[in-house]
Amino acid sequence: MDHTPRALFAMISAGLEDEVLSSNTPWYCVSCYACTTRCPQNIPITDIMYTLKEMAIRAGRYDHPHAAKFSETFIGFVEQRGRSFEAGLATRYHLFHHPQQVIKLGIMGVGMLRRNRLPLRPKSIRQIDQLQAILAEAKALAAKEVEA
Ligand code: SF4
Repeated sequence: MDHTPRALFAMISAGLEDEVLSSNTPWYCVSCYACTTRCPQNIPITDIMYTLKEMAIRAGRYDHPHAAKFSETFIGFVEQRGRSFEAGLATRYHLFHHPQQVIKLGIMGVGMLRRNRLPLRPKSIRQIDQLQAILAEAKALAAKEVEA
């Protein structure tokens, strides 16, 4: 991300519209709602990220190809486990797409581990097979729509 979500919101407050709309940060938001559910001020961060993407598209600023790769990595975890796994998401994405940043990421991860803010093991939802069946059906329906 060009800016952390916190920095992006400070930029919005400062009226830095051009910089905000050019930032790739909203494009890395995978709508996991982790920030929204944890925000002590009840700020709908995920919805605001969507709004920023929409504004950027209208302004013709949506050329962030790495964001699609990040989103694919996120979707891979959701398909396997039914939920995101932050440590795995960041590690897998960087290993495949930005290996030179893995050390920097590791240092940040150690800090988060020390503060107990980063689970080390992924958890799956119960009855993951049911979710996978729903996703398979959704993909089949989408493929039919593309063919039609
Ligand atoms: S919804 Fe998830 S990915 Fe998007 S900003 Fe919040 S924590 Fe990050």
